[in-house]
Amino acid sequence: MTRPDRAPERARQLRDSLNRANYLYYIESAPEISDAEYDALMRELREIESQNPELFTPDSPTQRVGAPPSSEFAEVTHPVPMLSLSNVFDEDGVRAWHRRALEFVEADTASVVCELKIDGLAIAVTYRGGVLAQAATRGDGVRGEDVTRNVRTIRSVPLRLSGDDVPELVELRGEVYFPTSAFEAFNREREAAGLPQYANPRNSASGSLRQLDSSETARRPLDMFFYSFGHIVGGREPPTQWDALQAMRRWGLKVNPWTRRARTIEEVMEAIGAAAQERAGLDYGIDGVVVKIDRLDLQRTLGSVGREPRWATAYKFPAEQARTRIIRIKVNVGRTGNLTPWAELEPVNVGGVTVRRATLHNKDEISRKGFREGDKVVIQRAGDVIPQVVKVADDNVRGAASAPYEFPSRCPACDQPVLETEEDAAVRCVNAECPAQFERLLEHFASRGAMDIEGMGERLAQDLARSSIVKRLSDIYSLTEKREQLAGLEGMGEKKIANLMAGVEKSKAQPISRLLFALGINGVGSEAGEWLARHFRTIHKLQAAKVDDLLQVDGIGPVTAQTVYKWMRLPGNVTLIDELEAAGLTLEDDSPEPPSDHPMRGLSLVVTGTLETMSRTDAESRIKSAGGKASGSVSKKTAYLVAGANAGSKLQKAQELGVPVLDEEAFVRFLLGATPT
Ligand code: NAD
Repeated sequence: MTRPDRAPERARQLRDSLNRANYLYYIESAPEISDAEYDALMRELREIESQNPELFTPDSPTQRVGAPPSSEFAEVTHPVPMLSLSNVFDEDGVRAWHRRALEFVEADTASVVCELKIDGLAIAVTYRGGVLAQAATRGDGVRGEDVTRNVRTIRSVPLRLSGDDVPELVELRGEVYFPTSAFEAFNREREAAGLPQYANPRNSASGSLRQLDSSETARRPLDMFFYSFGHIVGGREPPTQWDALQAMRRWGLKVNPWTRRARTIEEVMEAIGAAAQERAGLDYGIDGVVVKIDRLDLQRTLGSVGREPRWATAYKFPAEQARTRIIRIKVNVGRTGNLTPWAELEPVNVGGVTVRRATLHNKDEISRKGFREGDKVVIQRAGDVIPQVVKVADDNVRGAASAPYEFPSRCPACDQPVLETEEDAAVRCVNAECPAQFERLLEHFASRGAMDIEGMGERLAQDLARSSIVKRLSDIYSLTEKREQLAGLEGMGEKKIANLMAGVEKSKAQPISRLLFALGINGVGSEAGEWLARHFRTIHKLQAAKVDDLLQVDGIGPVTAQTVYKWMRLPGNVTLIDELEAAGLTLEDDSPEPPSDHPMRGLSLVVTGTLETMSRTDAESRIKSAGGKASGSVSKKTAYLVAGANAGSKLQKAQELGVPVLDEEAFVRFLLGATPT
């Protein structure tokens, strides 16, 4: 317990830390502390506030849900607030919650629905007349962000509900998540593009759903489980949570199949035990089990206290920890030269998965926590799929040979001195000739989202680089002349070589947006590749572009503009582009250029509602082909709002701001070149 005289200071510190953690987690999707650490800070603050009521403030993080919506999205006010959940961490906690609920409603028993607590982000989806009309994030529980366009790209979220009992208007809630199987590959792509990696699938779901460009969201394999009703008009509310789940299933929504109904607290505990067992086999993260009083009339009676309903609680799994020993500390060299330390561990089972290595994050983390080779340590998988070393075990005993770890001052791959940058705590190898960096670049160049060279997986890319068969990227395109050398590589039979040749040949036709991404220019991910390709249309024009020209490209900021400018001017890169051109790669975008005199050119349009003759995505790509910009939210900068059937809040906002509104016919005439009058 905190000493009373220290309580005010500690409460202030905890509030600061929690507010910062909330911002990083909810807005930046890039937490700095683990969920378990966050929960411990929150518990400590609650404890202080309950012991010292005078220290309680209405704006304390203990009273708030999430974070206010970001100004980059239009705001949505939730008709029924989206609350958080109280947490319990053991059987006693579950029992105490159930007992309190029964006392409150003066009942002897009440059945409970147990659902997996999906580790994603809560979304409210409104269907009007059975048609998806709006989707919003939870935000601060009262006001969320309008992410309708992005949610529309999730394939399992129906655009229209089916069945004959669909209410006139219904808001349904659920959790959007990023499947675990796709997460690691996705993070690798980000690393290869020099973009920050997401800490866990939950943060990548949140980051993906909160993209300003919905075509980027569409590229990510998001999925959604629905689990509750928000509000309903012109329809009957089901009597129980169980019935609500069945109704959603009937209407074509994806409901988690694991869900169970329990009559006694023993059955609840059994369900929790089963969930913990099955957790490792699921393709989505769960961090606990949500238990909800089944009858909705009882739920209403129970109501909520602060940010938490009384009728539900979340049992949280303990972070999956285990103790093992660090055999060796190793350092990886990334494509951009970053040196990332990791621990080779004595294999240990954590939550059903054998862990052999864990990240040590960076140099500072090793010295701050004092990790040494040979140390007994605690490791953890906490929702995160990348295991991490948490701390040196309390009972660790060091022998005479134990010594503090010395981070390499030279690159482990090329032996050149490394550079340390203070602002991002990174240690980098800046040698352009570093073989490890080239290996990573080659892996990235050939990878799926980049040039997608079939037959050249990571392993072969490494072999090609290490055997010097490929010394520069352009060497890929003369592999036909090196059949013999290829045949000398392990596992490369005739069939594999032929497959590789076909893959290399096919990749020559990849659009320049992909090539730009594949080249591994810092800050140019697949999205920026597209923006640059759309704007410049040929690599030669991009080579000639000045920083100011690059800044004209929507989405490109000053840092990336500088990097691209410098990259294009390095003599080695100029030669590389020449060689790729000579090898027959596509260096021009051959989709028709937007006519320079089209009246839509340079104007920002927003499409809302349902159009009859085209989908919204089609409408947006036609706007882009005409040289206009398709934007997701209405602002003063919007030139026109294109409104189809069932247009909602955007139409209202356009009218408030005096933005002219076009119906579908006027929009089509505009696309054909007639300026609206
Ligand atoms: P919560 O995650 O503990 O519980 C509420 C949420 O559970 C709901 O909003 C919903 O999104 C989700 N949920 C999943 N399945 C559900 C189901 N079947 N039924 C109902 N809801 C379901 O609470 P929170 O307020 O969203 O977030 C707080 C938690 O987030 C913390 O306990 C911590 O673990 C994490 N967090 C971490 C950091 C950090 O820096 N690491 C920062 C902020 C929050």
